[in-house]
Amino acid sequence: MPLWFTLAVTKAAAMSSRLLGRGGGHALPGLIAERLDPGLAGRLAARLPHGVIMVTGTNGKTTTTKLIASILEASGERVLTNSTGSNLKRGVTSALISAAHLSGRLDATIGLFEVDEASLRRVTGELKPDHIVVLNLFRDQLDRYGELDTTAALIGEGIAATTAQLYLNADDPLVASLSRYAPRADLVHYFGVEELPPDAPDVPQTASDSDRCPVCRSRLVFSRTFYGHIGHYRCPTCDFARPTPDVEVTEVTSADASGSRFTVAVGGERTAVVFPLAGTYNMYNALAATSLAHGCGIAPAGVAETLSTTVAAFGRVEELTLGGRTLFLLLVKNPVGLTQVLETFVSRESAPHVLFAISDLDADGRDVSWLWDVPMEALIPADAVVLTTGIRGADMTLRLHYAGIAADEVDDFTVAVERLVREIPVGGTGYILPTYTAMLAIRKMLAQRTSMQEVWR
Ligand SMILES: [Zn+2]
Repeated sequence: MPLWFTLAVTKAAAMSSRLLGRGGGHALPGLIAERLDPGLAGRLAARLPHGVIMVTGTNGKTTTTKLIASILEASGERVLTNSTGSNLKRGVTSALISAAHLSGRLDATIGLFEVDEASLRRVTGELKPDHIVVLNLFRDQLDRYGELDTTAALIGEGIAATTAQLYLNADDPLVASLSRYAPRADLVHYFGVEELPPDAPDVPQTASDSDRCPVCRSRLVFSRTFYGHIGHYRCPTCDFARPTPDVEVTEVTSADASGSRFTVAVGGERTAVVFPLAGTYNMYNALAATSLAHGCGIAPAGVAETLSTTVAAFGRVEELTLGGRTLFLLLVKNPVGLTQVLETFVSRESAPHVLFAISDLDADGRDVSWLWDVPMEALIPADAVVLTTGIRGADMTLRLHYAGIAADEVDDFTVAVERLVREIPVGGTGYILPTYTAMLAIRKMLAQRTSMQEVWR
């Protein structure tokens, strides 16, 4: 079947899907292409002169992909990327189709795709990436993926099918252990953090997912933990230990709700970075992007400049003003992510105002038992004003009740946000912590009340 024919059919399908109002037409062209011409994505990707980069891992894919895209664009690349939430194989295929001319020509110079952990094996088999970044592996939506070790093995098989340069988080034992799947040792690069500031809050690490040696199953010994199971570790039984990073945060001079300032060492060269996204997890995203950029030959100084002008990826950390109050909208989807958000934004405030919007539709993950894995007792001050809403708002209220925190449950998203705003003194700040579909609903509602262009950043 000629290339132009498949492209014409799939592009027409995307267009009619958009006209009919059936979503953004994100997945449909990919779905049709899989039937008509299963090799299409691979043939299109092969036309990208500077190759393909893939970003995978449980948390931070969207943010890291956005950071890498900015860094590449600043260095002169034209970047083809997939849209948020289209990180399965058909989403990647759809992105390639919509960017291609009917002749198959692409204007982009490089492909950059965030890929779902469970899909990596299928996508790498076809697209043959030149670079793969693995951020972290946390328990996330167990109802979909099963055990973490299974997810790691799937990523490993994806890695083994390529000769891509690998950028692995040295501080996540399971991610670091993926090096064993690399066809050659010289393809493996590590990034990590040496030390956090001494005043970083001490959070009980009950949200730890992976404290067993990936090689021999002994319990790992940690000399430092930064969050979850991310830290410095070694196995007391076999020789598995944290590898020495090639790209490393050597010093964090400040870290608060406005972001962090840190020094990153790349091949002995130290560069100061001012990074406006808050949270240790976002510092790791910046570090992963820096590591990849180094592998692509981009100098750390240019990377630091781009990082300093970063804005949050869709829905991850958004700030707006409403009725003279500042609201932060912070997506939550798993225990480690929620722990980090509470630690960064809520735990250090006196009398913080917080709205949890918890739903359990497919895109949120059906299982909300993870709410019990978050140490709410330690992270939410006793004088906090807390509201809950969403389909599973009652589960959140119950979880908070067992943490000794009283919360008022409100049925409707709009009423809940209005009530939150009324509770916050004028000039004060509040935090809305939604799951994915709750975030979309609240964002839509807020957009009607405020001017998106002016207040969203
Ligand atoms: Zn071991």
